[in-house]
Amino acid sequence: MNAAQDTIVAIASAPGAGGVGIVRLSGPDARRIAQTISARALQPRRAHHVRFLEADGVAIDDGIALSFPAPASFTGEDVVELQAHGSPVVLQQLVARACSLGARAARPGEFSERAFLNGKLDLAQAEAIADLIAAADTRAARAARRSLDGVFSQRADSLGAHLLALRVHVEAAIDFADEPLDTLGGDQVRARLSVAREGLDALIVDAERGRKLRDGVHAVIVGPPNAGKSSLLNALAGSDRAIVTDVAGTTRDTLRETIRLDGLELHLVDTAGLREGGDAIEREGMRRARVELQRADVALAVVDARDPGAGRTAVADDIAGVPAVLWIHNKVDLLPDAPLDDATTVHVSAARGTGLESLHQRLRALATGHSAEGAEGEFSARARHVEALQRAAGHAGTAHLHLQHEHLELAAEELRLAHDALGEITGRISADDLLGHVFSTFCIGK
Ligand code: GDP
Repeated sequence: MNAAQDTIVAIASAPGAGGVGIVRLSGPDARRIAQTISARALQPRRAHHVRFLEADGVAIDDGIALSFPAPASFTGEDVVELQAHGSPVVLQQLVARACSLGARAARPGEFSERAFLNGKLDLAQAEAIADLIAAADTRAARAARRSLDGVFSQRADSLGAHLLALRVHVEAAIDFADEPLDTLGGDQVRARLSVAREGLDALIVDAERGRKLRDGVHAVIVGPPNAGKSSLLNALAGSDRAIVTDVAGTTRDTLRETIRLDGLELHLVDTAGLREGGDAIEREGMRRARVELQRADVALAVVDARDPGAGRTAVADDIAGVPAVLWIHNKVDLLPDAPLDDATTVHVSAARGTGLESLHQRLRALATGHSAEGAEGEFSARARHVEALQRAAGHAGTAHLHLQHEHLELAAEELRLAHDALGEITGRISADDLLGHVFSTFCIGK
């Protein structure tokens, strides 16, 4: 148990006016402070109707006081909730009064951080609270709720336990240096490592989907000047957000729109046309386009349907590193017959709005990794989780190679690194700066 010495206080309800507002206290003095404000003793987990009083006895408001003694509380410490009328002025007065009695204003995420430090939640679960609060729709909320219930953490933990057991086996075998691993069950170790690696790969796919549910999908629209990129952004976003002109190089900066597809946010970025030359401003636009492409999940490569080959050649190098590419042959209205779509190509007329339905379908499939909407067991995740899983998978792969060559010490070390990387997800292995970073992005009162 991590015993915090100080008592924190914050408004826990949303900013602004509301029917009811909640001030939350946590720490060793929470009950004493709340009892002083309420001028009565508070029974554990009982709702008391009280008057909240200033030091001079003037009433701030009346409302409900609820006390949750440690350790059966959200933070694991003594927690008290004061429920008053949802007036920002009243709630602020309550916070000030608590501070005058010895509490201090909580930092963003500090309640969740204490819950984590007291073992009430692991780190992925604490992050899921923030994701649940920020969820933009039912699907994202359900996914965050599953992470909060530990669905993601359990999968990461069980893979971690699996890798740890393998490491123990390999380290034990090191002591029998004269024996080849195979006589010590080496085949079985390698087979079990293969199973763990498959589990890791599957978890990466699911976590990546969870990350997209939380962060949305970054789709970057690229193509040569005048292919119709701005027109496509307008057609998808349903507005005249981007400036459409027939002067090559008009979109010199990047334009952004977010559209929703089946509960997923698709962040569309329209970029300057990629071509050789151009003036200084246009070259800056192209540089920005290339930066956007580096963090893109999907490239929407727009080319003129009348000469797609030339367009494809023009952008091929720039999109080479993007995980998924959808080719969009635009201006089919200028062709006598619309060609047929194939697995990676759709034909549209951004100007006329034709082919957009099949474009939507492709985007949906790309964005969700072809999963059914709200797939069973879908959970929310973050970029840092995916990155940790990828590192774990890398170390597990290297461990496998070392095992094949009977380099047992090296294999054991790689298994340790893989296990540690998994531990970062739930915070069992964590650096202080990681914790600071995670919790500082929370809102105050959470
Ligand atoms: P960008 O430079 O790639 O962003 O291209 P724009 O969206 O600015 O379009 C360039 C020119 O092509 C404009 O004159 C548009 O009206 C025209 N254009 C865009 N899409 C279509 C289309 O589907 N059909 C036809 N005929 N013209 C289009």
